[in-house]
Amino acid sequence: MGKTRNTRQRNAILKSIRDAEGPLSVGEIHVRSRTEIPGLGIATVYRAVKALREEGEVVLVELPGEEPRYEPVGRGHHHHFRCLSCDQTFDLAGCPVGIPRGTTLPGGFTVEEHKLTLYGRCSDCA
Ligand SMILES: [Zn+2]
Ligand SMILES: [Zn+2]
Repeated sequence: MGKTRNTRQRNAILKSIRDAEGPLSVGEIHVRSRTEIPGLGIATVYRAVKALREEGEVVLVELPGEEPRYEPVGRGHHHHFRCLSCDQTFDLAGCPVGIPRGTTLPGGFTVEEHKLTLYGRCSDCA
């Protein structure tokens, strides 16, 4: 496999991840990148995603009970919405939680971070 081909595949895979409406599984990356790179194999996608993580271009997103997903690095603090109908995962704009870092809750618990995933129907499925 030549270097040029590798770079083209890598760039197409990175573009799929960057253009997505939310974090993607390897299977979803594969489907989207295949439109750019016909004949692209899923093993190549796995290798490219691993390399992109090592290069610091993409980060792992773990949702409870879900397969690993990947999103571009540097998206900042945000949450995800999982559509129970079409199975897509979306980035949410803004943070609906309203418990800033440093908040002390009853019982003396000082909050450092929070994680939240919302579930329901996306606008196409509602
Ligand atoms: Zn949906
Ligand atoms: Zn938040």
